[in-house]
Amino acid sequence: MITIFTDNCNPISQILYDHTLNALQFHQLTCSCGCSGGLSVHGYYRRNIKVGVCLVPLRICRVKCAVCKRTHALLLSAIVPYSQIGLSEQIRILSCYESSGDFAAIMNGHPTIDESNIRHVIRQYRCHWRQRRLAIGLTLSMTSHFISQCFSGFSRQFMQIKPTPNVFFPKPT
Ligand SMILES: [Zn+2]
Repeated sequence: MITIFTDNCNPISQILYDHTLNALQFHQLTCSCGCSGGLSVHGYYRRNIKVGVCLVPLRICRVKCAVCKRTHALLLSAIVPYSQIGLSEQIRILSCYESSGDFAAIMNGHPTIDESNIRHVIRQYRCHWRQRRLAIGLTLSMTSHFISQCFSGFSRQFMQIKPTPNVFFPKPT
């Protein structure tokens, strides 16, 4: 997969996703094999993300590398691979876990996120990410710095559990 950096000021939606991809120069994308310029659209698949009170269906684009033939989903940095809970919500849950332990505000603001979702996020964090985060001295935040440090340190999105190759495409400068 390839993760494209997006500012987190807008909630995840198909419009945001399509807008981000439309603004993208596909030839700038790099495959996990190291080749750039060889990726073209291969197809689409559906997945749902929990945003606020709804489950938002997203049509995700898949690209294929002309060199290694591998396919990659194009994800936004607001998405955690294989999770229906977005990055900002996971970071809010974990910030609460590390401080007050009071999740009422999160559940009130996101009725699709329940206690078992919260317990699951915390369990995954304790098993896979807490020590990693502490090892590189990162403070939980939604900044591009935080996201890019997770990619440069661990070659994957924060809270991504499966070790599927994930190439970060930072905001073009
Ligand atoms: Zn490739």
